[in-house]
Amino acid sequence: MRVLLTGGSGFIGSHIALLLLERGIDVVILDSFTNSSPNVINRINTYLDNKYLKYKLEIINGDIRDKKTLDKIFFDSIKAHKSIDIVIHLAGLKSVSESVVNPLLYWDVNVLGTLNLLLSMKEYECFSLVFSSSATIYGLSDLVPMAEDHNISPINPYGKTKVAIESMFYDLCNSNINLWKICSLRYFNPVGAHPSGLIGEDPIGIPNNLFPFLTQVAIGRQKTLKIFGDDWDTEDGSGIRDYIHIIDLAEGHLASIDYLNSIDSCLEFINLGSGKGYSVFQIINQFESSTGCQIPFSIESRRDGDVAKCYADISKAKTLLGWSPKRSLEEICLDGWNWQMKNPNGYS
Ligand code: NAD
Ligand code: UDP
Repeated sequence: MRVLLTGGSGFIGSHIALLLLERGIDVVILDSFTNSSPNVINRINTYLDNKYLKYKLEIINGDIRDKKTLDKIFFDSIKAHKSIDIVIHLAGLKSVSESVVNPLLYWDVNVLGTLNLLLSMKEYECFSLVFSSSATIYGLSDLVPMAEDHNISPINPYGKTKVAIESMFYDLCNSNINLWKICSLRYFNPVGAHPSGLIGEDPIGIPNNLFPFLTQVAIGRQKTLKIFGDDWDTEDGSGIRDYIHIIDLAEGHLASIDYLNSIDSCLEFINLGSGKGYSVFQIINQFESSTGCQIPFSIESRRDGDVAKCYADISKAKTLLGWSPKRSLEEICLDGWNWQMKNPNGYS
């Protein structure tokens, strides 16, 4: 099997690439490296056998907005009798705050990029796709746990692009119900790192998200963790989220591929989360007890656009994909800390 993995050098993509390669699947990574380091590829090479990888992993430095690049990947693959069987599409921009400041960039990269990809796939008759959607499409609601039929109401341009892409899938599959096979995976909060400590999350600049900020406080790159509100309607007053180990999330993609290979056509929207909610204080406590680090924190006012509680109902992923998350919050903390300790400055 041969998989085109767009955004394959990013946080989530690099972990999926490792798992695919470990399974003996050929991988073509297409990435513009706008939000990732080429060093990721060296790390993947280090983890797996280089000689073996030479034949299994191909890297293309390109932009999903450039249709010629996409066409060439499909064309060359067919010419070499190694056609692409499935696309896992992760390339895109993901910063909520940046999307508010520069919405057109988000519509361009995320929506037009995906449209380009679908056009190329259609042209070269590759009809299987796994897509990286997001729980952010559920908007300002804390009716938990959230199942896939939860109301869709994104509150920022980033979330709106994900909804637009899902609508495109809907129309496409409706136009020919027997052709396309699409799993749109709605991620909750992927965190942690590969247990080897070779790959992990390396946000550019000051992290927006709790987990990478916390590990950077632990390593001394940030001074104090700001807790955005201790007056939420939750047991300890801090916000509750669904943190899923990055390897569990990556395994969800392999399960999706198996599912797509087992059926004739489909369009499925599927939550990928741990199915459990943890508060900010619980995350800090678990991190401190697992790693022995102390996390200085201050209580700040609530962050715009936050909700009290957000966690997934993952029944659909369990029944349809036969997948379930296996790793605990302790493993998340230990693997995340292992990565941060071994790479205090990320990939640089
Ligand atoms: P990431 O930024 O680490 O990875 C995205 C990759 O896409 C990067 O390597 C980047 O260089 C590449 N890229 C960006 N624009 C591109 C373009 N025009 N052409 C080709 N490559 C391009 O992000 P991630 O956390 O790995 O997220 C991957 C996907 O999952 C994104 O689509 C994101 O919206 C989605 N997602 C992420 C989260 C999360 O919390 N990390 C949650 C929900 C959904
Ligand atoms: N949070 C926090 N301090 C930070 C970053 C996040 O207190 O520096 C809180 C945030 O208010 C939310 C939780 O941690 O309750 C998870 O935030 P994150 O940005 O990681 O995920 P998201 O809110 O996008 O699901």
